[in-house]
Amino acid sequence: MSKVLVIGAGGVSSVCVHKMAMNPDIFSQIHLASRTKSKCDAIAESVRQRTGQEVATYEIDAEEVPAMVNLIRKLGPSLVVNLALPYQDLPIMDACLEAGVDYLDTANYEPKDEAKFEYKWQWAYHDRFREAGILALLGSGFDPGVTSVFTMWLKKHKLKTIRQLDILDCNGGDHGQHFATNFNPEINIREVTAPARHWENGKWVESPAMGEKVEFQFEGVGSKNMYMMYHEELESLAKFNPELERARFWMTFGDEYIKHLTVLQNVGMTRIDPVKYQGRDIIPLQFLAAVLPQPETLGETTKGKTNIGVIATGEALDGSGEKTFYINNICDHEDAYEETGNQAVSYTTGVPAMVGSAMVLQRKWAGDGVFNMEEFDPDPFLEMLGEQGLPWNVKELDGPVDF
Ligand code: NDP
Repeated sequence: MSKVLVIGAGGVSSVCVHKMAMNPDIFSQIHLASRTKSKCDAIAESVRQRTGQEVATYEIDAEEVPAMVNLIRKLGPSLVVNLALPYQDLPIMDACLEAGVDYLDTANYEPKDEAKFEYKWQWAYHDRFREAGILALLGSGFDPGVTSVFTMWLKKHKLKTIRQLDILDCNGGDHGQHFATNFNPEINIREVTAPARHWENGKWVESPAMGEKVEFQFEGVGSKNMYMMYHEELESLAKFNPELERARFWMTFGDEYIKHLTVLQNVGMTRIDPVKYQGRDIIPLQFLAAVLPQPETLGETTKGKTNIGVIATGEALDGSGEKTFYINNICDHEDAYEETGNQAVSYTTGVPAMVGSAMVLQRKWAGDGVFNMEEFDPDPFLEMLGEQGLPWNVKELDGPVDF
């Protein structure tokens, strides 16, 4: 029986709050605060209709640390779940430190003026969280999040060491729009236009964005082109699995998405530096995000499935030589929408955020300091993930990937 305070009221938050309300034995009181209170109220109303549970709502600018501290002190939650944007990670962590409460998020901190996805800023909080006797759990979404837990499950149950790791993120959903992103457009476009980076023989290897393309047959989806890109869990996976010879991240994009993104990039609409327009500074990418469809509006029309997983090759635990395993989840957009009113990209992030919150509140994952998903026992997390709408499957492949 615990009280939680969720920050942010987008698609991920909506799924997470619905799933928390469906587990009232763990989440006995849910408080929801965000920049726009009407969005919190809309989630609360949907939760009331679907589950009969009440969610209390508040307006907050999470970058205002004193206001955050006041809200936390007033409500006295056991955990603050940050489902706002990566820019708010550090101010919310500061507020949690001051108020002495545990913290969880789904994406690592990113400075507004630089598309840099690195854990260094949040890892630097470790000693302060440890001394305060509180926990921060970083990256409890799907990727980052479940992909790291999948990897550690393979290392616990199938492989002694992991030599090669490939994370495959496929969204086979069709939303019927010419161009739209399935989560926050600004964060999504910053991520996919950044140079690709993978881990090889102890160092990062950088290559041009979208420069490496491979066609892959995804179960439940079909054949898709996937592109190598940088993704933040590669950093924590390399840190906690120092034996890794190579780790890469791949994401599928349709030809239409690539075509639109290329044009937008070529004309400067994805820039994140200020541009003078009619006497005032605007950030082209922020303006673009404002005119694109909001991700939370795509749920109603999106059809198809996501398929996200990890292929790992390494020395088998049972001494039978080198083995390769593929562990993944397939999620249906329409099923996700029916259950929570949100499409599968929000669903596959919001459910792990709820499961990570449950792990912390139930002390199945415990400690003082700042932790990544790789540092805890994967079993209770994956058991609950399967029960809560994201079942997963593991199979042995004939050999290592040939791409
Ligand atoms: P949305 O843009 O839909 O929602 C973000 C919410 O945060 C909005 O309600 C927004 O308010 C609120 N917000 C923004 N700034 C502030 C602020 N200063 N104070 C308070 N609230 C604020 O994003 P998503 O729901 O798609 O994504 C949420 C998070 O999940 C992001 O960090 C994203 O990177 C992460 N994510 C992680 C994934 C994973 O697998 N790990 C996958 C997908 C997303 P307003 O409504 O006023 O704009």
